[in-house]
Amino acid sequence: MKPRIALIAHDKKKDEMVMLAAEYLDFLRGCTLVATGTTGARLANELGLTVERKHSGPFGGDLQIGAALVEGQIDAVIFLRDPMTPQPHEPDINALVRACDVHNVACATNISTAQLVLTQLKLVSQNQ
Ligand code: PGA
Repeated sequence: MKPRIALIAHDKKKDEMVMLAAEYLDFLRGCTLVATGTTGARLANELGLTVERKHSGPFGGDLQIGAALVEGQIDAVIFLRDPMTPQPHEPDINALVRACDVHNVACATNISTAQLVLTQLKLVSQNQ
């Protein structure tokens, strides 16, 4: 089955998310992608990726992704959080990260971890 990956980036991390996705573009083209609204729009518009777009994070997108994860529909989350800026939807962010821990779903919150997770998923999918 195609890896199912959720992609979320806070505003100051969106450029990094686009660069990360560009680095793994061929692999991500073969994945099922879901993203919060603005992150998804950038990935679709700038890289041509096909992404299911949920609501924007502050309007419940993190919670929608969390609900899909709880339903077993997501294999990994790349969540580039901005640790320097308070977010109005902090409880939603914590809920999503907690849901990853409850359900043992990989959750990368910085670029280094995201690269490790994507590299591993790519290797696994190549060997299938
Ligand atoms: P966005 O949401 O992709 O719609 O900006 C991300 C977030 O702020 O959680």
